[in-house]
Amino acid sequence: MVDEAGSPWVLEVNANPCLSPNAVFVAAAERADLTFKHVVNRLLVTHSLAGRSEMKNKLLICIQCGNEFVVTPSEQKRCIYHNFDMPKRCQECRKHKAKIKQQEEWGRKGKHRRVREEQFE
Ligand SMILES: [Zn+2]
Repeated sequence: MVDEAGSPWVLEVNANPCLSPNAVFVAAAERADLTFKHVVNRLLVTHSLAGRSEMKNKLLICIQCGNEFVVTPSEQKRCIYHNFDMPKRCQECRKHKAKIKQQEEWGRKGKHRRVREEQFE
């Protein structure tokens, strides 16, 4: 409920809403651009953050160099909360990939600038 001043008033909170994909709770989440999967992931992370279930370090194999790398519980929670995929590359390969991407970006800007300069000659 919203009063004349535009302030919201919460009259009731359903602490145990139905979580089926076609229930009102999920419909309300969709109004906030959250998918059903997103809602479930956030509930799981919130539950985990409350200390009721403990995540452990996850050991993954880097798709680039083949070395093992650790994904910490906080990284896992971040990925789940934001609906990101788990990292596929180790820290070093991620840094290397980001550096190459940045160099490509600079290369494109340089090319774009050259094209513009040629247009004004
Ligand atoms: Zn790697």
